[in-house]
Amino acid sequence: MLEIVRIPVLSDNYVWLVHEAQSGETLVVDPAVAAPVLAEAEARGWTITQIWNTHWHPDHVGGNAEIKAASGCIITGPAAEAERISTLDVLVRGGDVVQLGDVRATVIDVPAHTAGHIAYHFESAHAAFVGDTLFAMGCGRLFEGTAAQMYDNMRKLEALGDDTAIYCAHEYTLSNARFAVTVEPDNVDLTRRFAEVVAARERGDATVPTTIALERATNPFMRATSVEQLAVRRAAKDAA
Ligand code: ZN
Ligand code: FE
Repeated sequence: MLEIVRIPVLSDNYVWLVHEAQSGETLVVDPAVAAPVLAEAEARGWTITQIWNTHWHPDHVGGNAEIKAASGCIITGPAAEAERISTLDVLVRGGDVVQLGDVRATVIDVPAHTAGHIAYHFESAHAAFVGDTLFAMGCGRLFEGTAAQMYDNMRKLEALGDDTAIYCAHEYTLSNARFAVTVEPDNVDLTRRFAEVVAARERGDATVPTTIALERATNPFMRATSVEQLAVRRAAKDAA
């Protein structure tokens, strides 16, 4: 139903291109830059109709203007960050529904990395685009929010269900895994995943998307059992 393509850009960003065949719509999630995204769409014969942003950071919105100029697409993003993203056409907040063709996605408020950060959940496709909130074995830094908010975000995202594919915006997995094994050295799922990630990165392979099931088993931030524990782990990772 949805065809999802990963485009690696800059040093470690992933831009996601999502094509809905029935309507012919094509969506870009968090375009850090424009040129590789336009090239990928062109190569596939897809016309970009929408951009969805998760938060205001330049490595998530930097391609907005140029992609819009090239395609005439509509840009949707967080109402709470409208003043920081000058290119938005449609402003959304938690609970709102957005559509790619007839496929609906629900907006989820996940403040903490930035104050107005949102995620987009395609329930029927079991897919969520989470920007810089949840990473493979990691979570976003708390630039504009608190550990309590990030703890709540982990609860909201794990509630999407084990089979939900998680499309995050960075390849941070190896660094996250190195930290995670120091937090839970006896977690056998984590030990196994760490080895898999090392091998994947040595081959030059991407390690995302991940899933909620994998994160519930191996992510020290999703697995933190209290706000305080998440805060301690976040501070330790920041200092690592
Ligand atoms: Zn960010
Ligand atoms: Fe980012």
